[in-house]
Amino acid sequence: MTETEKTELTGMTPEELAAYVKEQGWPEFRAKQIFSWIHKGADIPEMTNLPASVRETLLQRAAVRTVKIMTERVSALDGTVKFLFALRDGNCVEGVLMRYKYGCTLCISTQVGCRMGCTFCASTLEGCIRNLTAGEMLGEILCANRYLQPEDKKISHVVLMGSGEPLDNYDQVMKFLRLLREENGIHLSLRNVSLSTCGIVPKMYALADENLPVTLSVSLHAPNDEIRRKTMPVAKVYTIDEILDACRNYITKTGRRVIFEYALVKDLNCDAVHAEELAKRLRGMQCHVNLIPLNEVKERGLKGVSETDVKRFTEMLEARHISVTRRREMGDDIEGACGQLRRKTILKRKETADE
Ligand code: SAH
Repeated sequence: MTETEKTELTGMTPEELAAYVKEQGWPEFRAKQIFSWIHKGADIPEMTNLPASVRETLLQRAAVRTVKIMTERVSALDGTVKFLFALRDGNCVEGVLMRYKYGCTLCISTQVGCRMGCTFCASTLEGCIRNLTAGEMLGEILCANRYLQPEDKKISHVVLMGSGEPLDNYDQVMKFLRLLREENGIHLSLRNVSLSTCGIVPKMYALADENLPVTLSVSLHAPNDEIRRKTMPVAKVYTIDEILDACRNYITKTGRRVIFEYALVKDLNCDAVHAEELAKRLRGMQCHVNLIPLNEVKERGLKGVSETDVKRFTEMLEARHISVTRRREMGDDIEGACGQLRRKTILKRKETADE
């Protein structure tokens, strides 16, 4: 059996794993043991309380560590680590580990590439190759936990802000979130998880009904639909009004404030009129605005803004009573922004193939 033909156990729920164990004819309690080992990041030979025969069968038929660290780059500025994770079918995705006073955050990818086509983003340049499985998303965290083991640290916060549109891979993302909080597993509070979307409205309503306390982040990036359509194809499908209604519903259902991401792009969305219009639309909403100075992607031709521009925009929103912060840029020296490292690796692979 080749590696890719083996059954991936990592994304299985306790119930699915129980069914798998039963199928093999093993006693029921093995499922709990295996689940616990997997979520500790153990490989099959390390599952020492399983009989050798069980481990042998697992080695032949099952895959546990389906995600591996391919490369890592550590920022000399702030200790941020950019991982390139290898998947067992040869694809790769990025993840970023950020260190804060309150703990360690991992930014994970949810798809290989992305099909949303935002013109400022590197992740979408090659389209979407495939969805990640729940097990692979979990695998990104398990890799980071292993990386942190020598420091006696673990991932305490997760943000779904890497490559991919999480709501375009809805079922696997929901499965992953539920796995994250399993008591016998990683046991992370979903209050420590943020999910970022470009605004797929029907899925935002569905998410509100899941009864999961995750923080919803919405990539707004514009004060009106006309400007939004210039950089985000999804804006041709859903209007800002529809997105804001879905956000209000999310706030009502979950009691949690919504975060709006707003990347400042030169000559596009960062003038006084834009701040005014944005503030007007968000007035009275339980929300927070996260300003991001555009991270210039060479292929995209859009220009970033100066520190003074960011400050000016921040002050204009504050004056209109909108809660706002500037997103801290971390790992600036290691291509911390979405999709950049993976893209570089793909380009390099192509160059080598062409030689
Ligand atoms: N697909 C999801 C999550 C992934 S992107 C979403 O759209 O929200 C995470 C955030 O980084 C989004 O707000 C995205 O719009 C933003 N982003 C992508 N490329 C960027 C760039 N070059 N500069 C600044 N922000 C960028």
